[in-house]
Amino acid sequence: MKLEFLGGCTEIGREAFLVESRDTRVMVEYGVKLHPKLEIPLLPPKKLHGLFVSHAHLDHSGMAPLLYKTQTPKLYTTPATLDLMNLLLEDYIKVARLTRGFSEYNMYDIKKMNKSSSTQEYNKPFKIGNMDAKLFNASHIPGSASIFLSGDKKILYTGDINMNSSYLVDYKRIKYPKIDCLITESTYSEKDHPDRKEEEKKFIKKVKEYSHGLVLVPTFAVGRAQELLLMLYKNNITENIYLDGMAQKASDIILYHKNSIKDAKALEGILKKIKFVRTRSQRDKILKNGGIVITTSGMLNGGPIVYYLSKARDKKDTCLLLTGFQVDGTPGSKVLKTGVFESDEDKFKVNIEIKKFDFSGHAGKSELLELIKKTKPKKVVCVHGDNTRKFAREIKENLKIDAVAPKIGENVEI
Ligand SMILES: [Zn+2]
Repeated sequence: MKLEFLGGCTEIGREAFLVESRDTRVMVEYGVKLHPKLEIPLLPPKKLHGLFVSHAHLDHSGMAPLLYKTQTPKLYTTPATLDLMNLLLEDYIKVARLTRGFSEYNMYDIKKMNKSSSTQEYNKPFKIGNMDAKLFNASHIPGSASIFLSGDKKILYTGDINMNSSYLVDYKRIKYPKIDCLITESTYSEKDHPDRKEEEKKFIKKVKEYSHGLVLVPTFAVGRAQELLLMLYKNNITENIYLDGMAQKASDIILYHKNSIKDAKALEGILKKIKFVRTRSQRDKILKNGGIVITTSGMLNGGPIVYYLSKARDKKDTCLLLTGFQVDGTPGSKVLKTGVFESDEDKFKVNIEIKKFDFSGHAGKSELLELIKKTKPKKVVCVHGDNTRKFAREIKENLKIDAVAPKIGENVEI
């Protein structure tokens, strides 16, 4: 079995690798890297029999339609992921055209991709050419999957994976099949997360502290926004909450796929309580009267948060609560370090309290190591991280299992 890495190896973003066995060739993920600059995976050298997408986030799905310009591999993913990735891909085209005047693919390519899709349920085996496949719940966001492929060797690709339940998605221990190779994400290969309950307490305390003013909560639209809504709901905070940007549509899709979430009733409950924001005059009203605003984008790369922040940068009783991973070089990472918001279009000092919380949907270091011990692979391939080489070294030294961290364009034989 041959693995060929086309992107997302020693970096977070543009995830893509080829698996070839028994004359069957499949692409696993075809993502895009958006930060600090746009980068896409290498193009596949040969015809594909299939494409697997583990979950909707653009670093895993963002360039999938590009493949359909020249061929029509069957797309294997879960029903929730297919709907969520459609939302994000359409938005990608819109933003790309608006900011660069050009998108790598168009709506017709997305249509072709959808026509070739074959949605799959968790834990149900299916065939693709001469390989067998199965998806397992990865508990990262609704619809997210780990991918098991069996040809002349057996591999498990974690995708983005979480081993803890959140308010949004449930985690249940999974009995994985015997494997030869584990391809693991490495986002948090260097540290464990702080205690989530403690982090939640601190977040809720801050929200309450500013409840008479304005609380700005930039967040990722798919997964995190709904998790935060549920967190507020479970802490009995249901008044004066506003949802702005793409998270509105994402919430509707997630609610439609009830089976992919833990407590659909609760999500329905909070969505009924909050107010949806669509216009500038609505935003101006909130800026004047205050409230809790949950909005895109999570790393302040654009979206309504930039407007709110530019208007409220000196406002009394206002805070900015970051709730996700901030990639180096993004406005979110800069404002956190320097207190200055800086994008291509704008630069201004932010004179309000800024705090960051860790509500990650990724496994921490110890959990990743636990998974390796549990699945007992002969080889581990570390991808999707800023320090994959270091992680591979640690696995080799501490667990005595062969481990590699391929670079883009490299092959791994198993
Ligand atoms: Zn993800």
